[in-house]
Amino acid sequence: MMQDDERWMREAIAIARSKGSDPSTSPLGCVIVLDGKIIAGERNQTHELPDATAHAEMMAIRRACEDTGELELRGATLYSTLQPCGMCTMASIWSKVGRVVYGAGRDDVHPMYFEAKHVDTLAFIHDAYRDDIVIEGGCLKAECAVLYYGPDAELPTDEQANL
Ligand SMILES: [Zn+2]
Repeated sequence: MMQDDERWMREAIAIARSKGSDPSTSPLGCVIVLDGKIIAGERNQTHELPDATAHAEMMAIRRACEDTGELELRGATLYSTLQPCGMCTMASIWSKVGRVVYGAGRDDVHPMYFEAKHVDTLAFIHDAYRDDIVIEGGCLKAECAVLYYGPDAELPTDEQANL
């Protein structure tokens, strides 16, 4: 299982890096796997579209639903290079994926990647009305964390996504 997780996370990392891996290009990648196959793989596309909701996980969930013709992604696992933000965590709950696996966690990166100061998005999963969804972090954590600004990076305010 862990080897499979690492295999799929490597795919998510490759997608994250597909347009370069400079942190300023927001290299976030996500793949959704069902029955041993990738049914969607997307990169963050907020700047390109432009669409503030076009996070990698949102785009992958949309693509997976479009391609399967299904509203629900039961039995699927969503792999994300970074702990999903609140929006993407809620979208994972709504899409009915069974598992969320992420690489770098909230404490491994700059706070710019999250919207809430004190609410950890993990709490959304633990507090969800669903009891058939799990979230696990730290898969290829080091490889994922190097894609992002570190916890103590000194960034100009106009580079900080959540200001
Ligand atoms: Zn997100």
